[in-house]
Amino acid sequence: MWVRGVSAKERQVQSISRQYPPLGCNVMQDKPNARVVVSKGAGQILCGAPPEVIKHFRRGGGDMPEVVVLASEFYKRGQVQNEVSFIVASNFFMGGHKKTAIIGTAEQIARARIILEEEFFGPKENVPEQTRREMEHFRFYAKLNKYLTLDDMVEFVVLSEGREINFKGCTIKSFGNGQYRFVEGKMLGEVDTQALASPILCPPTFHEFNFRLPRFGLTFFGTSSGFDALNRTTSLMLWVDGQGLFIDPLDMPQIEMVKLGIDPNKVKTVFLTHCHADHDVGVLDMVLNQGATLITSSLVYQSFLTRAVAYTGEGIDSLRSRIHFIPAEPGMEIDFNGAKLEISSAFHAVPTIRFVARYAGKTIAYSGDTLFDPAQFEVLQSTGVLTMDRRRELEGFVYNSKANLFAHEAYIVPLHTSDLVLQALPYEIRKNMRIVHTGTRSPGVTIPLARAGETFRLAA
Ligand SMILES: [Zn+2]
Ligand SMILES: [Zn+2]
Repeated sequence: MWVRGVSAKERQVQSISRQYPPLGCNVMQDKPNARVVVSKGAGQILCGAPPEVIKHFRRGGGDMPEVVVLASEFYKRGQVQNEVSFIVASNFFMGGHKKTAIIGTAEQIARARIILEEEFFGPKENVPEQTRREMEHFRFYAKLNKYLTLDDMVEFVVLSEGREINFKGCTIKSFGNGQYRFVEGKMLGEVDTQALASPILCPPTFHEFNFRLPRFGLTFFGTSSGFDALNRTTSLMLWVDGQGLFIDPLDMPQIEMVKLGIDPNKVKTVFLTHCHADHDVGVLDMVLNQGATLITSSLVYQSFLTRAVAYTGEGIDSLRSRIHFIPAEPGMEIDFNGAKLEISSAFHAVPTIRFVARYAGKTIAYSGDTLFDPAQFEVLQSTGVLTMDRRRELEGFVYNSKANLFAHEAYIVPLHTSDLVLQALPYEIRKNMRIVHTGTRSPGVTIPLARAGETFRLAA
Protein backbone atom coordinates (compact mmCIF):
# COMPACT_ATOMS: atom_id res chain seq x y z
CA MET A 1 0.00 0.00 0.00
CA TRP A 2 1.32 3.44 -0.82
CA VAL A 3 -0.11 6.92 -0.86
CA ARG A 4 0.75 10.17 -2.57
CA GLY A 5 2.73 12.58 -0.43
CA VAL A 6 5.52 11.31 1.76
CA SER A 7 5.31 7.54 2.08
CA ALA A 8 7.05 5.41 4.65
CA LYS A 9 9.52 4.30 2.00
CA GLU A 10 10.24 7.85 0.99
CA ARG A 11 10.85 8.80 4.61
CA GLN A 12 13.31 5.92 4.71
CA VAL A 13 15.14 7.40 1.71
CA GLN A 14 15.24 10.79 3.40
CA SER A 15 16.51 9.36 6.66
CA ILE A 16 19.33 7.64 4.77
CA SER A 17 20.00 10.97 3.02
CA ARG A 18 20.54 12.70 6.30
CA GLN A 19 23.49 10.47 7.12
CA TYR A 20 25.35 12.47 4.48
CA PRO A 21 26.54 16.05 4.96
CA PRO A 22 25.06 18.93 2.97
CA LEU A 23 26.54 19.32 -0.45
CA GLY A 24 27.75 22.89 -0.59
CA CYS A 25 28.51 24.32 -4.01
CA ASN A 26 29.07 21.81 -6.74
CA VAL A 27 30.67 21.98 -10.08
CA MET A 28 28.92 18.82 -11.23
CA GLN A 29 25.22 19.01 -10.56
CA ASP A 30 24.51 15.29 -10.66
CA LYS A 31 27.83 14.14 -9.23
CA PRO A 32 28.60 16.50 -6.36
CA ASN A 33 31.06 13.98 -4.97
CA ALA A 34 33.52 15.03 -7.67
CA ARG A 35 34.88 18.32 -8.94
CA VAL A 36 36.14 19.36 -12.33
CA VAL A 37 38.78 22.03 -12.82
CA VAL A 38 39.02 23.20 -16.42
CA SER A 39 42.50 24.09 -17.61
CA LYS A 40 43.81 25.00 -21.05
CA GLY A 41 46.87 22.74 -21.03
CA ALA A 42 45.59 19.67 -19.21
CA GLY A 43 41.92 19.95 -20.18
CA GLN A 44 39.37 18.87 -17.59
CA ILE A 45 40.98 17.75 -14.34
CA LEU A 46 38.66 15.47 -12.43
CA CYS A 47 39.08 15.50 -8.64
CA GLY A 48 37.60 12.40 -7.05
CA ALA A 49 36.06 9.72 -9.25
CA PRO A 50 32.88 8.21 -7.82
CA PRO A 51 31.43 5.13 -9.56
CA GLU A 52 29.67 5.88 -12.85
CA VAL A 53 31.08 9.43 -12.99
CA ILE A 54 32.01 8.59 -16.59
CA LYS A 55 28.29 8.58 -17.44
CA HIS A 56 28.16 12.26 -16.53
CA PHE A 57 30.75 13.09 -19.19
CA ARG A 58 29.24 10.80 -21.80
CA ARG A 59 25.82 12.35 -21.21
CA GLY A 60 27.29 15.78 -21.73
CA GLY A 61 28.76 14.62 -25.03
CA GLY A 62 31.98 16.50 -24.26
CA ASP A 63 35.49 15.25 -23.75
CA MET A 64 36.43 12.67 -21.18
CA PRO A 65 38.87 14.01 -18.55
CA GLU A 66 42.37 12.70 -19.10
CA VAL A 67 43.64 13.79 -15.70
CA VAL A 68 42.32 12.51 -12.39
CA VAL A 69 43.39 13.79 -8.98
CA LEU A 70 42.61 11.07 -6.46
CA ALA A 71 40.34 11.90 -3.54
CA SER A 72 42.08 11.67 -0.16
CA GLU A 73 39.82 8.80 0.89
CA PHE A 74 39.29 5.90 -1.51
CA TYR A 75 36.20 4.72 0.35
CA LYS A 76 33.89 6.79 2.48
CA ARG A 77 30.60 5.96 4.19
CA GLY A 78 30.04 2.85 2.10
CA GLN A 79 30.94 4.47 -1.20
CA VAL A 80 34.00 4.15 -3.38
CA GLN A 81 35.47 7.62 -4.06
CA ASN A 82 38.21 6.73 -6.55
CA GLU A 83 36.79 4.48 -9.27
CA VAL A 84 39.13 5.40 -12.10
CA SER A 85 38.97 2.27 -14.25
CA PHE A 86 36.14 3.31 -16.55
CA ILE A 87 37.79 6.65 -17.30
CA VAL A 88 41.05 4.85 -18.02
CA ALA A 89 39.30 2.28 -20.24
CA SER A 90 37.32 4.96 -22.05
CA ASN A 91 40.41 7.05 -22.84
CA PHE A 92 42.41 4.04 -23.92
CA PHE A 93 39.96 1.75 -25.73
CA MET A 94 37.54 4.35 -27.05
CA GLY A 95 39.78 7.40 -27.21
CA GLY A 96 42.58 6.22 -29.50
CA HIS A 97 44.84 4.72 -26.81
CA LYS A 98 45.09 7.89 -24.77
CA LYS A 99 46.76 7.50 -21.40
CA THR A 100 44.96 8.78 -18.32
CA ALA A 101 47.12 10.68 -15.83
CA ILE A 102 46.39 9.73 -12.24
CA ILE A 103 47.74 12.14 -9.64
CA GLY A 104 48.09 11.41 -5.95
CA THR A 105 50.54 10.76 -3.14
CA ALA A 106 52.88 7.77 -3.48
CA GLU A 107 50.66 5.80 -1.11
CA GLN A 108 47.51 6.64 -3.08
CA ILE A 109 49.17 5.75 -6.37
CA ALA A 110 50.22 2.37 -4.94
CA ARG A 111 46.62 1.70 -3.91
CA ALA A 112 45.23 2.80 -7.28
CA ARG A 113 47.70 0.48 -9.02
CA ILE A 114 46.51 -2.53 -7.02
CA ILE A 115 42.86 -1.79 -7.77
CA LEU A 116 43.47 -1.26 -11.49
CA GLU A 117 45.75 -4.30 -11.88
CA GLU A 118 42.99 -6.54 -10.52
CA GLU A 119 40.40 -4.76 -12.63
CA PHE A 120 42.17 -5.12 -15.96
CA PHE A 121 44.30 -8.21 -15.53
CA GLY A 122 42.79 -10.21 -12.66
CA PRO A 123 44.46 -12.08 -9.81
CA LYS A 124 48.06 -13.29 -10.04
CA GLU A 125 48.00 -16.13 -7.54
CA ASN A 126 46.05 -19.37 -7.19
CA VAL A 127 44.76 -19.11 -10.76
CA PRO A 128 43.88 -22.50 -12.31
CA GLU A 129 45.65 -23.28 -15.58
CA GLN A 130 42.55 -23.02 -17.81
CA THR A 131 41.56 -19.67 -16.27
CA ARG A 132 45.12 -18.38 -16.66
CA ARG A 133 45.07 -19.24 -20.39
CA GLU A 134 41.77 -17.42 -20.81
CA MET A 135 42.97 -14.31 -18.94
CA GLU A 136 46.10 -14.26 -21.07
CA HIS A 137 44.00 -14.55 -24.22
CA PHE A 138 41.97 -11.48 -23.25
CA ARG A 139 45.08 -9.56 -22.21
CA PHE A 140 46.49 -9.72 -25.72
CA TYR A 141 45.49 -6.52 -27.50
CA ALA A 142 45.51 -7.17 -31.24
CA LYS A 143 45.33 -3.49 -32.23
CA LEU A 144 48.76 -2.89 -30.68
CA ASN A 145 49.91 -6.49 -31.15
CA LYS A 146 50.99 -6.83 -27.51
CA TYR A 147 49.99 -7.97 -24.06
CA LEU A 148 48.70 -4.85 -22.32
CA THR A 149 50.15 -3.54 -19.09
CA LEU A 150 48.77 -0.86 -16.81
CA ASP A 151 51.51 1.53 -17.93
CA ASP A 152 50.15 1.37 -21.49
CA MET A 153 46.94 2.93 -20.20
CA VAL A 154 47.92 5.06 -17.22
CA GLU A 155 50.55 7.66 -16.40
CA PHE A 156 50.92 7.70 -12.64
CA VAL A 157 52.05 11.06 -11.27
CA VAL A 158 53.22 11.30 -7.67
CA LEU A 159 52.45 14.57 -5.90
CA SER A 160 53.57 14.61 -2.29
CA GLU A 161 51.80 16.68 0.33
CA GLY A 162 53.11 20.26 0.46
CA ARG A 163 54.68 19.95 -3.02
CA GLU A 164 53.64 21.21 -6.41
CA ILE A 165 54.02 19.94 -9.95
CA ASN A 166 53.60 21.48 -13.33
CA PHE A 167 51.42 19.26 -15.42
CA LYS A 168 50.96 20.35 -19.05
CA GLY A 169 51.25 24.01 -18.11
CA CYS A 170 48.96 23.77 -15.10
CA THR A 171 50.54 24.05 -11.67
CA ILE A 172 48.93 21.71 -9.16
CA LYS A 173 49.88 22.34 -5.56
CA SER A 174 49.00 19.96 -2.75
CA PHE A 175 48.66 22.18 0.30
CA GLY A 176 47.27 19.74 2.85
CA ASN A 177 45.70 16.35 3.14
CA GLY A 178 43.68 16.03 -0.05
CA GLN A 179 43.64 19.77 -0.74
CA TYR A 180 44.80 21.07 -4.09
CA ARG A 181 45.29 24.45 -5.74
CA PHE A 182 45.26 24.79 -9.53
CA VAL A 183 47.04 27.70 -11.20
CA GLU A 184 47.52 28.32 -14.90
CA GLY A 185 48.72 31.91 -15.25
CA LYS A 186 45.81 32.79 -12.99
CA MET A 187 44.17 30.90 -10.16
CA LEU A 188 41.80 28.25 -11.55
CA GLY A 189 40.46 27.01 -8.25
CA GLU A 190 40.98 25.01 -5.10
CA VAL A 191 39.52 21.63 -4.29
CA ASP A 192 39.30 19.94 -0.92
CA THR A 193 38.84 16.27 -1.79
CA GLN A 194 38.12 15.49 1.88
CA ALA A 195 34.89 17.42 1.56
CA LEU A 196 33.62 15.33 -1.37
CA ALA A 197 30.56 13.36 -0.37
CA SER A 198 27.75 11.51 -2.03
CA PRO A 199 24.39 13.07 -2.70
CA ILE A 200 21.39 10.90 -1.99
CA LEU A 201 18.47 12.02 -4.03
CA CYS A 202 14.96 10.66 -3.91
CA PRO A 203 13.96 10.03 -7.52
CA PRO A 204 10.71 11.47 -8.82
CA THR A 205 9.57 8.02 -9.97
CA PHE A 206 9.62 6.70 -6.43
CA HIS A 207 5.86 6.50 -5.97
CA GLU A 208 5.27 4.53 -9.14
CA PHE A 209 6.56 1.27 -7.75
CA ASN A 210 4.44 -0.94 -5.60
CA PHE A 211 6.69 -3.88 -5.00
CA ARG A 212 5.29 -7.33 -4.32
CA LEU A 213 7.88 -9.97 -3.45
CA PRO A 214 7.83 -12.92 -5.90
CA ARG A 215 8.24 -16.45 -4.50
CA PHE A 216 10.73 -17.12 -7.27
CA GLY A 217 11.69 -14.31 -9.60
CA LEU A 218 14.16 -11.72 -10.75
CA THR A 219 14.25 -7.93 -10.50
CA PHE A 220 16.44 -5.89 -12.82
CA PHE A 221 18.06 -2.96 -11.01
CA GLY A 222 20.55 -1.76 -13.61
CA THR A 223 20.60 -3.25 -17.08
CA SER A 224 23.57 -1.79 -18.90
CA SER A 225 27.32 -1.31 -19.08
CA GLY A 226 29.62 1.05 -17.24
CA PHE A 227 29.97 3.12 -20.43
CA ASP A 228 26.25 3.68 -21.06
CA ALA A 229 25.43 7.33 -20.40
CA LEU A 230 21.74 6.77 -19.76
CA ASN A 231 21.35 3.44 -17.98
CA ARG A 232 22.87 2.06 -14.82
CA THR A 233 25.25 -0.89 -14.63
CA THR A 234 23.86 -4.42 -14.68
CA SER A 235 22.58 -5.48 -11.28
CA LEU A 236 19.91 -8.05 -10.48
CA MET A 237 17.99 -9.46 -7.55
CA LEU A 238 17.07 -13.13 -7.45
CA TRP A 239 14.06 -13.73 -5.22
CA VAL A 240 13.54 -17.04 -3.47
CA ASP A 241 10.76 -17.49 -0.94
CA GLY A 242 10.90 -14.04 0.59
CA GLN A 243 14.67 -13.55 0.47
CA GLY A 244 16.70 -11.59 -2.07
CA LEU A 245 20.08 -12.53 -3.49
CA PHE A 246 21.59 -9.26 -4.70
CA ILE A 247 23.71 -10.03 -7.76
CA ASP A 248 26.46 -7.46 -8.36
CA PRO A 249 24.81 -4.70 -6.31
CA LEU A 250 25.29 -1.32 -7.92
CA ASP A 251 26.61 1.79 -6.21
CA MET A 252 24.53 2.80 -3.18
CA PRO A 253 22.60 -0.47 -3.00
CA GLN A 254 20.47 0.50 0.01
CA ILE A 255 19.09 3.53 -1.75
CA GLU A 256 18.45 1.56 -4.92
CA MET A 257 16.41 -1.01 -3.00
CA VAL A 258 14.34 1.59 -1.23
CA LYS A 259 13.76 3.39 -4.53
CA LEU A 260 12.10 0.26 -5.91
CA GLY A 261 10.06 -0.16 -2.76
CA ILE A 262 12.11 -3.14 -1.56
CA ASP A 263 12.70 -3.61 2.14
CA PRO A 264 16.54 -3.86 2.53
CA ASN A 265 15.94 -6.26 5.44
CA LYS A 266 14.82 -8.89 2.92
CA VAL A 267 18.24 -8.76 1.31
CA LYS A 268 21.08 -10.14 3.38
CA THR A 269 23.07 -11.98 0.74
CA VAL A 270 25.20 -10.75 -2.15
CA PHE A 271 26.35 -12.74 -5.17
CA LEU A 272 29.47 -11.28 -6.79
CA THR A 273 30.18 -12.46 -10.36
CA HIS A 274 33.52 -10.71 -10.82
CA CYS A 275 35.75 -7.81 -9.83
CA HIS A 276 35.05 -5.23 -12.50
CA ALA A 277 33.94 -1.91 -11.08
CA ASP A 278 30.57 -2.00 -12.85
CA HIS A 279 29.85 -5.15 -10.79
CA ASP A 280 31.63 -4.90 -7.45
CA VAL A 281 31.44 -1.26 -6.28
CA GLY A 282 28.23 -1.82 -4.30
CA VAL A 283 29.49 -4.99 -2.60
CA LEU A 284 31.71 -3.26 -0.01
CA ASP A 285 28.79 -1.38 1.48
CA MET A 286 26.61 -4.50 1.60
CA VAL A 287 29.19 -6.77 3.25
CA LEU A 288 30.94 -4.25 5.53
CA ASN A 289 28.08 -1.98 6.60
CA GLN A 290 24.87 -3.93 6.03
CA GLY A 291 26.12 -7.26 7.36
CA ALA A 292 25.33 -9.11 4.14
CA THR A 293 26.84 -12.53 3.44
CA LEU A 294 29.03 -12.71 0.33
CA ILE A 295 28.68 -15.59 -2.10
CA THR A 296 31.35 -15.87 -4.77
CA SER A 297 34.18 -18.16 -5.87
CA SER A 298 37.40 -18.32 -3.83
CA LEU A 299 39.30 -16.77 -6.73
CA VAL A 300 36.88 -13.84 -7.15
CA TYR A 301 36.92 -13.40 -3.37
CA GLN A 302 40.72 -13.23 -3.41
CA SER A 303 40.51 -10.42 -6.00
CA PHE A 304 37.74 -8.73 -4.06
CA LEU A 305 39.80 -8.76 -0.85
CA THR A 306 42.88 -7.42 -2.65
CA ARG A 307 40.80 -4.53 -3.96
CA ALA A 308 39.00 -4.06 -0.63
CA VAL A 309 42.32 -3.68 1.21
CA ALA A 310 43.36 -0.99 -1.29
CA TYR A 311 39.98 0.76 -1.16
CA THR A 312 39.51 0.76 2.61
CA GLY A 313 43.11 0.80 3.86
CA GLU A 314 42.08 -1.95 6.28
CA GLY A 315 44.21 -5.08 6.80
CA ILE A 316 43.25 -8.26 4.99
CA ASP A 317 42.81 -10.28 8.19
CA SER A 318 40.56 -7.64 9.67
CA LEU A 319 38.44 -7.57 6.50
CA ARG A 320 38.27 -11.37 6.41
CA SER A 321 37.05 -11.43 9.99
CA ARG A 322 34.30 -8.94 9.17
CA ILE A 323 33.04 -10.56 5.96
CA HIS A 324 30.85 -13.63 6.07
CA PHE A 325 31.95 -15.47 2.93
CA ILE A 326 30.31 -18.55 1.38
CA PRO A 327 32.35 -20.14 -1.42
CA ALA A 328 30.60 -20.88 -4.71
CA GLU A 329 33.14 -22.63 -6.90
CA PRO A 330 32.50 -23.38 -10.57
CA GLY A 331 31.04 -26.88 -10.81
CA MET A 332 29.43 -26.62 -7.37
CA GLU A 333 25.75 -26.51 -6.58
CA ILE A 334 24.82 -24.21 -3.72
CA ASP A 335 21.59 -23.67 -1.85
CA PHE A 336 20.00 -20.27 -1.46
CA ASN A 337 16.88 -20.35 0.69
CA GLY A 338 15.73 -23.60 -0.91
CA ALA A 339 16.76 -22.81 -4.50
CA LYS A 340 19.59 -24.75 -6.13
CA LEU A 341 22.19 -22.63 -7.88
CA GLU A 342 24.51 -24.41 -10.30
CA ILE A 343 27.67 -22.33 -10.45
CA SER A 344 29.86 -22.18 -13.51
CA SER A 345 32.57 -19.94 -14.83
CA ALA A 346 31.99 -17.45 -17.65
CA PHE A 347 34.47 -16.51 -20.39
CA HIS A 348 35.73 -13.03 -19.52
CA ALA A 349 38.95 -11.06 -18.97
CA VAL A 350 38.99 -11.78 -15.24
CA PRO A 351 37.60 -14.77 -13.29
CA THR A 352 33.80 -14.55 -13.49
CA ILE A 353 31.10 -16.83 -12.11
CA ARG A 354 27.43 -17.18 -13.00
CA PHE A 355 24.52 -19.46 -12.21
CA VAL A 356 21.49 -21.42 -13.25
CA ALA A 357 18.94 -21.28 -10.40
CA ARG A 358 16.17 -23.86 -9.99
CA TYR A 359 13.18 -23.61 -7.67
CA ALA A 360 9.54 -24.72 -7.73
CA GLY A 361 10.04 -26.42 -11.10
CA LYS A 362 11.28 -23.19 -12.73
CA THR A 363 14.72 -22.08 -13.90
CA ILE A 364 16.42 -18.68 -14.03
CA ALA A 365 19.83 -18.34 -15.68
CA TYR A 366 22.22 -15.40 -15.63
CA SER A 367 25.20 -15.35 -18.00
CA GLY A 368 27.45 -12.97 -16.06
CA ASP A 369 29.85 -10.94 -18.21
CA THR A 370 30.94 -13.32 -20.93
CA LEU A 371 31.82 -13.84 -24.53
CA PHE A 372 29.44 -16.35 -26.06
CA ASP A 373 30.21 -17.24 -29.65
CA PRO A 374 30.30 -20.91 -30.73
CA ALA A 375 32.20 -20.04 -33.94
CA GLN A 376 34.86 -18.23 -31.93
CA PHE A 377 35.02 -21.08 -29.39
CA GLU A 378 35.87 -23.46 -32.22
CA VAL A 379 38.80 -21.24 -33.25
CA LEU A 380 39.93 -20.87 -29.64
CA GLN A 381 39.90 -24.63 -29.20
CA SER A 382 42.09 -25.03 -32.27
CA THR A 383 44.59 -22.47 -30.91
CA GLY A 384 44.67 -24.18 -27.51
CA VAL A 385 42.99 -21.44 -25.47
CA LEU A 386 39.99 -23.67 -24.75
CA THR A 387 39.99 -27.40 -24.11
CA MET A 388 37.21 -29.49 -25.64
CA ASP A 389 35.59 -29.83 -22.20
CA ARG A 390 35.73 -26.10 -21.57
CA ARG A 391 34.25 -25.35 -24.98
CA ARG A 392 31.42 -27.81 -24.33
CA GLU A 393 30.82 -26.25 -20.92
CA LEU A 394 30.60 -22.71 -22.36
CA GLU A 395 28.21 -23.82 -25.10
CA GLY A 396 26.20 -26.02 -22.75
CA PHE A 397 25.46 -23.11 -20.43
CA VAL A 398 23.37 -21.52 -23.16
CA TYR A 399 22.07 -24.58 -25.02
CA ASN A 400 21.25 -26.82 -22.04
CA SER A 401 20.01 -24.51 -19.29
CA LYS A 402 16.35 -24.67 -20.48
CA ALA A 403 15.73 -21.48 -18.54
CA ASN A 404 12.27 -20.01 -18.14
CA LEU A 405 14.04 -16.68 -17.80
CA PHE A 406 17.52 -16.18 -19.22
CA ALA A 407 19.30 -12.88 -18.51
CA HIS A 408 22.13 -12.88 -21.02
CA GLU A 409 24.60 -10.10 -21.52
CA ALA A 410 25.52 -8.44 -24.81
CA TYR A 411 28.07 -5.72 -25.39
CA ILE A 412 31.33 -5.00 -27.18
CA VAL A 413 33.09 -8.13 -28.50
CA PRO A 414 35.48 -9.79 -27.56
CA LEU A 415 35.00 -9.20 -23.82
CA HIS A 416 31.28 -9.55 -24.33
CA THR A 417 28.69 -11.23 -26.57
CA SER A 418 27.32 -9.90 -29.83
CA ASP A 419 23.53 -9.61 -29.67
CA LEU A 420 23.49 -10.97 -33.24
CA VAL A 421 24.89 -14.27 -31.93
CA LEU A 422 22.08 -14.40 -29.37
CA GLN A 423 19.54 -13.60 -32.06
CA ALA A 424 20.83 -16.57 -34.09
CA LEU A 425 20.02 -19.00 -31.23
CA PRO A 426 17.08 -21.41 -31.62
CA TYR A 427 13.75 -19.75 -30.85
CA GLU A 428 13.20 -22.11 -27.89
CA ILE A 429 16.19 -20.55 -26.10
CA ARG A 430 15.91 -16.91 -27.11
CA LYS A 431 12.16 -16.65 -26.48
CA ASN A 432 12.86 -16.53 -22.73
CA MET A 433 15.86 -14.21 -22.98
CA ARG A 434 16.32 -10.67 -21.80
CA ILE A 435 19.45 -8.83 -22.84
CA VAL A 436 21.46 -7.03 -20.16
CA HIS A 437 24.72 -5.03 -20.09
CA THR A 438 23.74 -2.78 -22.98
CA GLY A 439 21.25 -0.03 -23.69
CA THR A 440 20.99 -0.64 -27.43
CA ARG A 441 20.40 -3.52 -29.85
CA SER A 442 21.76 -4.19 -33.33
CA PRO A 443 19.29 -3.87 -36.20
CA GLY A 444 17.23 -7.05 -36.57
CA VAL A 445 17.61 -8.17 -32.94
CA THR A 446 14.20 -8.88 -31.44
CA ILE A 447 15.23 -10.26 -28.03
CA PRO A 448 13.98 -7.63 -25.57
CA LEU A 449 16.36 -5.51 -23.53
CA ALA A 450 15.83 -5.93 -19.80
CA ARG A 451 14.17 -2.90 -18.25
CA ALA A 452 15.42 -1.39 -15.00
CA GLY A 453 12.87 -1.78 -12.22
CA GLU A 454 11.11 -4.68 -13.94
CA THR A 455 10.36 -7.84 -11.95
CA PHE A 456 9.70 -11.28 -13.41
CA ARG A 457 7.64 -13.71 -11.34
CA LEU A 458 8.22 -17.36 -12.16
CA ALA A 459 6.41 -18.57 -9.08
CA ALA A 460 3.98 -16.07 -7.61
ZN1 LIG B 1 33.24 -7.43 -16.69
ZN1 LIG C 1 30.35 -5.53 -16.84
